[in-house]
Amino acid sequence: MPEHVVIIGSGPAGWTAAVYAARANLNPLVFEGAISEENRQSGTLPLGQLALTTEVENFPGWPAGDLSGYLKSALDEEHSWLADMHHKQGVSGPELMHLMRQQAKNFGTRIVTDDIAEVDFSQRPFKLKSAGSTGEVQEIEAHSVIIATGASANYLGLESEERFKNRGVSACAVCDGALPRFRNKPLVAVGGGDSAVEEADYLTKHAEKVFLVHRRDALRASKIMAERAEKNPKIELVWNTEVSEVYGDDEKGMTGVKLTSTVGEPDRDMDAAGMFVAIGHTPNTKFLKGQLEMNEKGYLKWTVPFRTNTSVEGVFAAGDVSDDYYRQACTAAGTGCMAALDAERWLAAQGI
Ligand code: NAP
Repeated sequence: MPEHVVIIGSGPAGWTAAVYAARANLNPLVFEGAISEENRQSGTLPLGQLALTTEVENFPGWPAGDLSGYLKSALDEEHSWLADMHHKQGVSGPELMHLMRQQAKNFGTRIVTDDIAEVDFSQRPFKLKSAGSTGEVQEIEAHSVIIATGASANYLGLESEERFKNRGVSACAVCDGALPRFRNKPLVAVGGGDSAVEEADYLTKHAEKVFLVHRRDALRASKIMAERAEKNPKIELVWNTEVSEVYGDDEKGMTGVKLTSTVGEPDRDMDAAGMFVAIGHTPNTKFLKGQLEMNEKGYLKWTVPFRTNTSVEGVFAAGDVSDDYYRQACTAAGTGCMAALDAERWLAAQGI
């Protein structure tokens, strides 16, 4: 029997869609992504980008306070340790994501910890093939599909950056910042948006100093985040500058960077044990090429204003995979809800 609705992705959009679809008795099946080294490196592990962040101060309903009592009661035993490390500053990204997953599970959502590698939306029911990371490739048929695969971090694209990935170069301070190789050492963070400031700020917990390298002379980050960078004595802003090469060797990994001015100053070298890149994102839509309409950056197109419809009837898109503008946890959750309601109504109209 084909599934009523398959949800691909496990960030706020995916779990919100699952909660709504489960409560509408659609018995949703979520492919939450594989736990693989490849996904770790590209930032596409289950639970999405929020699982790679620290405090989430702007998700409504989670004010600062001691939430640990509630969290202990709401998380299952396996994840209760998350509540122990609570920072009392609102909820943390990983906590929020485990809670959303748990909420979807509580309503009967079924979860497969694997990627979807291939889809065929040219016929109905739709056909999907898993990557087989858990050992077995699954072929699934579905009457409707919600794509919520999000976006993942961009890198600079330097050959030397590729060489030192995982050996000094990272796009996730929360994942890697506490590693011994970075402790009490100078580090470089690259970018000028909220993510770059967040990364730099987090890195100062362990690093000796963090040089925040930005190609212009003003941050793109929100005021509150920009102030956080300016006030942190361990962050030094390096304006009008790009990283043009990563130095290192096979034994030590990364040891420094070459900095190139964007305003004609001479190049200079800087010692650094790590480089954390935070320069924006690319949507996770590779496996959908040729199946769904996308914009020039690869984001899925909504084809009906203020609906989550894609270019194929019965396939819906929610969250960052179809949003290169707002990109917030709460907007992703909102569009996840919309996608589940759109799918429910579409299935009903088909008499399914
Ligand atoms: P973003 O706002 O698009 O900023 C990307 C930054 O990277 C920009 O400063 C850009 O420089 C720079 N950049 C892009 N390509 C580059 C390259 N090849 N070399 C060097 N620099 C490059 O992305 P984001 O910081 O990831 O934020 C995305 C969204 O998430 C935003 O809506 C943000 O508000 C939100 N967010 C919020 C929080 C929070 O509130 N705590 C935390 C993280 C993210 P230019 O400025 O010159 O374009």
